Amino acid sequence: GTSSVKTVNPFTNEIVKQFDVMEDKELDSKIALADSTFKTWKKTAFSVRAKLLHKVATIMRNKKEELGKLATLEMGKLLKESIAEVELSADIFDYYADKGEEFLADSPLETPIGSAFLSYEPIGVLLSVQPWNFPFYQITRSAAPNIMAGNTMLFKHASNVPQCAQIMEDIFIEAGAPEGVYQNLFIPGKKASELVADERIKAVTLTGSEPAGAAIAAAAGKYIKKSTLELGGSDAFIVLDDANVDEAVEAAVNGRMWNAGQVCTSPKRIIVEESIADTFLEKVKAKFASIKPGDPMDPETTLAPLSSEKAVEDVIKQVQKAVEEGATLLLGGKRIDRKGAFMEPTLLTGIEPNNSAYKEEIFGPVFMFYKVKNEDEAIELANATNFGLGGSIFSGDEKRAVNVARQIETGMVYINHLTGITPELPFGGTKGSGYGREQSPAGIYEFVNAKLIRTT
Ligand code: NDP
Repeated sequence: GTSSVKTVNPFTNEIVKQFDVMEDKELDSKIALADSTFKTWKKTAFSVRAKLLHKVATIMRNKKEELGKLATLEMGKLLKESIAEVELSADIFDYYADKGEEFLADSPLETPIGSAFLSYEPIGVLLSVQPWNFPFYQITRSAAPNIMAGNTMLFKHASNVPQCAQIMEDIFIEAGAPEGVYQNLFIPGKKASELVADERIKAVTLTGSEPAGAAIAAAAGKYIKKSTLELGGSDAFIVLDDANVDEAVEAAVNGRMWNAGQVCTSPKRIIVEESIADTFLEKVKAKFASIKPGDPMDPETTLAPLSSEKAVEDVIKQVQKAVEEGATLLLGGKRIDRKGAFMEPTLLTGIEPNNSAYKEEIFGPVFMFYKVKNEDEAIELANATNFGLGGSIFSGDEKRAVNVARQIETGMVYINHLTGITPELPFGGTKGSGYGREQSPAGIYEFVNAKLIRTT
């Protein structure tokens, strides 16, 4: 039969390669291997783990063209974005290789009753379920800290990026990882939730949609296992009246078109103060006109196809529904008349609170534009969603922007920047965007046991 695990090039919609889903027996032996390897891996010195991760980083940098092309082939993003993603991933491996030992050093606690310390200990086999939108970076963000901490890992990557999934396992083997430290599983999403019940799997992390996150968290709750979730967002991009409008427009449009709009922290809701709103909108329209859809391997292209035919259909349906419910379509809204999973850059305005788009995440090149009377209205609108991932505030007055930032209910707020990614800064959300943090020192404490040892 045909497998659901396959490479379909979204630029041509052609099936490139199919993979067999793993049978239960094979899965069981992989879990057993991860579990037995943990017993030795947890005792290795940090220097051994650091050497492995540095090697992984080096291999990724050496193969950045090949890896980048694979990501572009499987999910369509611009090749330059794919290569930048591979470089970022290598940086994250290096970061935890360099800092992991320091982060996990014993941490002394002074009390009136005497001394004590925290000993950070790995917990075992970790299941990591990841999406296709950043095929290498998503894997890296859970692999780097957790393998450095001494856990062993099973990866269930999205079914449409199997070659990226497999090559990461190959890279770990090439770098000298003991068998069982890093294993790729070709299984359907539902199977990943079922695996949480396995006694040998101690914890689970997922990035993806709310239904997938809810399924994983329900299983983790039932079996009392630690979980972290990153479930996307509908980030506000607030432009205050004292902002540099040109810089804000540039950031908003580039940010929204990045990865064809399929980024959890993409600036999905553009919220602009009344006095500059019309100017802002005119500049956005002008910038839209210069967007060039095309072959994602071509450096001249600025708009990539979406990840699949179904992704385009879903986004178009969401836009049509928003319009039926009263929104105004200023630009775009249709598929681009060419082969491949392309969607026009789209500009929606007039989205009222009763419109379903008001609270939804739109995972494509779609701007939802809002004009507000003042700062307070901007804050209220930004918080009028169950999502709480990132966000941006543009203003010429940093103090004013920080004051607004404190009132935004998300895990991250960037001032005069898009929500960015760098190894040193934490990434994660609040509310319906999930819980837990990746990257930064915080990312290495999620799946370790901070054990108290009381001494004198
Ligand atoms: P999914 O949440 O379905 O996929 C993410 C990962 O979860 C994949 O590995 C998937 O496997 C797995 N999965 C799916 N169902 C389950 C389940 N019941 N239990 C455990 N794991 C599961 O996202 P889609 O790719 O279907 O995208 C749908 C929408 O989700 C997007 O349009 C977007 O709105 C949102 N999304 C947000 C992301 C973000 O970064 N914020 C990333 C991806 C999606 P499989 O591929 O085999 O189904």
